[in-house]
Amino acid sequence: MSSGSANLQSADVDLSVPETETTVLELDGIEKSYNDTNVIGDLSLSVRDGELLTLLGPSGCGKTTTLRLIAGLERPDGGIVRIDGEAVSGPTFVAPEDRDVGVVFQEFALFPHLSARENIAFGIQEWDDEEREARVDELLELVGLKTHGEKHPEELSGGQQQRVALARSLAPEPSVLLLDEPFSNLDVDLRVEMREEVRSILKKAGVTAISVTHDQEEAMSISDRVAVMSEGGLEQVGTPEDVFQQPKSRFVAGFLGHASFVSGRVTEGCVETGVGCVPLDRVNGLSEEYIGSQIDLMVRPDDVRAEPAEPAEANGEVVHRRYLGPTVLYRVEIDTGDVVGCMHNHADEVSLDEPVFASLDADHELAWFPRGERKMADGGQ
Ligand code: ADP
Repeated sequence: MSSGSANLQSADVDLSVPETETTVLELDGIEKSYNDTNVIGDLSLSVRDGELLTLLGPSGCGKTTTLRLIAGLERPDGGIVRIDGEAVSGPTFVAPEDRDVGVVFQEFALFPHLSARENIAFGIQEWDDEEREARVDELLELVGLKTHGEKHPEELSGGQQQRVALARSLAPEPSVLLLDEPFSNLDVDLRVEMREEVRSILKKAGVTAISVTHDQEEAMSISDRVAVMSEGGLEQVGTPEDVFQQPKSRFVAGFLGHASFVSGRVTEGCVETGVGCVPLDRVNGLSEEYIGSQIDLMVRPDDVRAEPAEPAEANGEVVHRRYLGPTVLYRVEIDTGDVVGCMHNHADEVSLDEPVFASLDADHELAWFPRGERKMADGGQ
């Protein structure tokens, strides 16, 4: 963690790759416009050998375009794409089929008239017969479909079809595997199961993979690193824990889960807020140079508790209540005017409009933003 300075960081993205790690994919200052509208602007990103990195962002932020630029299905207007250190887009352009890139499509795109085995073998037809069959056997085993090789796609469940699609893309041993919204075609229950399955298969295969999603939970559960995108650029790249717990911008904070902001004044030793005093050492990288300043602390619903209270003791009131089954999500307006989200167990009953005493119940360091700034101050990353 940095010692915390008064200098504000720009939206610097940690793109450094330790020298000991091999970079397999590199995007260097990529630009792409459609009809004079800039869709990707100066995007730089390195993906390490064997890493699973997810591009995460709202619809229309440029995730699919980025994936298509890597695959060679689009040409960048500027910048260089390198795979295994070799430029494939930029001064030269290598056709998609000549890049060492595999793609798993959203809808799996299996050939209906071919068996699972034949689908998997499709991209390695030119291999020697014996090697090809051995590779298909190995992949059927890897994806847990050893006894399903002769079945056709319609005889397989959605999850099994996805495993065949994965095996088919892995067959030629690509340097980079691209997964476009890989779970969007599955039922909700199956999605969660397949996340673990797909991660496990990719890790066993040791392939470098880039996936795309707008689902933050999916991104955090499958990825080694998450690259959060907004409006054609990168907001932050980091481990799921980094981007969730220490977001560098309010956009990242909000996109990765319910984030509320509690205004506070930094005093000697603590930050005074409408939900209590937070010791300075519980605020990530906040230094004494900020004493006297107004800041916003980021809190998530599990960081705040609201107990019913007599009006004289209350510091807020419940203004919204959403029953979610196992939990209830409240919005509490505190006396300072801040509105904070607050998650309780379903058995806890707090009514709408009820006076409450809201307090912080966080056992970790909180992220913060200077008042009026979109970016987080130089904190713990
Ligand atoms: P995401 O995958 O994040 O939803 P996309 O990369 O598909 O976003 O699209 C980013 C932006 O580029 C959107 O505004 C989209 O409308 C635009 N776009 C994508 N492809 C084309 C195209 N072939 N022609 C014109 N505009 C496009």
